[in-house]
Amino acid sequence: MKITELSPLVRRITADNSGVFTGPGTNTYLIGRDEITVIDPGPASKDHIENIAKICGEDIKQILVTHTHNDHSPGAKLLHQRTAAPVKGMKALHNEMQDPTFKPHSILKDGDIIEQVDYSLRVIHTPGHASNHLCYFLEEEKMIFTGDHIMDGSTVVIAPPDGSMSQYLESLKILKDEDLKYIAPGHGDLMENPHAVVDWIISHRMFREKKVIDAITELNRASLEALLEKVYDDVDSRLLSIAKYSLQAHLIKLIEEERVVQDELEFVWQH
Ligand SMILES: [Zn+2]
Repeated sequence: MKITELSPLVRRITADNSGVFTGPGTNTYLIGRDEITVIDPGPASKDHIENIAKICGEDIKQILVTHTHNDHSPGAKLLHQRTAAPVKGMKALHNEMQDPTFKPHSILKDGDIIEQVDYSLRVIHTPGHASNHLCYFLEEEKMIFTGDHIMDGSTVVIAPPDGSMSQYLESLKILKDEDLKYIAPGHGDLMENPHAVVDWIISHRMFREKKVIDAITELNRASLEALLEKVYDDVDSRLLSIAKYSLQAHLIKLIEEERVVQDELEFVWQH
């Protein structure tokens, strides 16, 4: 088991679920020393949960989840059974791709503050990757735990109906109002220059949206498959089945903005 000390208040251990979509694995963060908050206990991995329980002993005050996809929250039930610490988070609006074992003892909302003796965490609701996605801001260290809102090394999947591209962009913009020093993502390493990271992600999403618009205008009307090939021509083909979700999310945003209409199975440019 590798424990990475990120700061006086924050330790990270990574679950053993590395892969194409999870990078080195899901990060579990342990905040505080005497009164510990666990953020994202990860998948239902007995070894990982046992490691968390061993490090924290009797000191876990609560288990928080950033969202309820299967690589982030199923460990919450196991860790609760092992330690009796309460589970906190938000419920998703849709059932697809969600962890069915997630039963929070209390529901968090935007602006809630979790106070412990040596630190406080502020809850920021960031829908987009998932309707119930929460980031946690550690005021003392200006460190934000971003789950899958922002991850290191790749862009996140936006899968409708629970995922929404327009909400995702709004949820990125609200981070620009915060005084941030570090991003602690759900996958990968600590990231510096948070505002520059956020700007890059927004411009990358707008670059992708421009490719969607260019492809539709060039083809005049186009099916999802035809657009996928053109819009993601720079992406590893193993990722195309997943990129299709984000493409749908871009199209829904453009339909909401009345720039594209859907005609049967094809998409048509309006302006
Ligand atoms: Zn994840």
